[in-house]
Amino acid sequence: MSQHIYINGEYFSKDDAKISVYDHGLLYGDGVFEGMRAYGGKVFRLEQHLIRLWESALSIGLKIPTTIEALTADINECVEKNSLDEGYIRLIVTRGAGALGLDPYKCDNPQVICIADKITLYPDELYQNGLELITAATIRNHPAALSPRVKSLNYLNNIMAKMEGLKAGCVEALMLNHKGEVAECTGDNIFIVKNDLLMTPPVEAGILEGITRNAVLELADEMGIESIEAALTRHDIYTADECFLTGSAAEVIAAVKLDDRQIGEGKPGPITKQLNEAFRILVRQ
Ligand code: PMP
Repeated sequence: MSQHIYINGEYFSKDDAKISVYDHGLLYGDGVFEGMRAYGGKVFRLEQHLIRLWESALSIGLKIPTTIEALTADINECVEKNSLDEGYIRLIVTRGAGALGLDPYKCDNPQVICIADKITLYPDELYQNGLELITAATIRNHPAALSPRVKSLNYLNNIMAKMEGLKAGCVEALMLNHKGEVAECTGDNIFIVKNDLLMTPPVEAGILEGITRNAVLELADEMGIESIEAALTRHDIYTADECFLTGSAAEVIAAVKLDDRQIGEGKPGPITKQLNEAFRILVRQ
């Protein structure tokens, strides 16, 4: 399948889709992004992703050179052009090309890029049986340094944590915040269930406010599952009845072990399964 990659309103083949080596997105990780899913040719919660993108950009003082309305139309067009019925959409806004110094005010041409492609999910076996986690030594960004709510092009600490996980044989790793509380995983939010109560860390714990996380909280509400946002420690996860992760790529996936401690019965629990099924129905509505 030949791909049509969108850069600032124009389409290029995969080989021709290029940006400058002076782009500060490359030189400094100066930019923001979103990872979205298409189901049945329709982007799930596109508006919410775009609002988060605009807020990330606002937070780092980056003016996106288009409007939410225009970009919505462009993304839908890009998905259609690529005949992407089921897949993943990566939207990127870089600061643009500038000089070889930090000064972002010398970058006057931000690049808006949209790649619509297939997605590699976790193996089916992990959805059936749940995945194992370790706690990474690398913590989430300190909120007083750069807000973890900014989905920036600089994911280095999450990448360091991901490496720790992979070295330990885990596809995901738990990241704590600067207070030692549970924040989230390297690319997914985390939930636990204890005595039928669903719990997830609040935004103030230093997390990215996941679109999937919020959809799951809404679903729980509709399904009569009581939920709270609360500061959690690793002890809460070790002693939980169920644990699962949420993300645009992962959807809802059970976690059955943390740091070699079995969580609950060591298999996907009933509330995890219910929410996973409800989420799969929701995305196709
Ligand atoms: N946390 C982090 C650090 C992420 O990068 C992501 C997205 N990959 C998430 C959580 C999940 O967010 P969403 O549900 O919006 O994909």
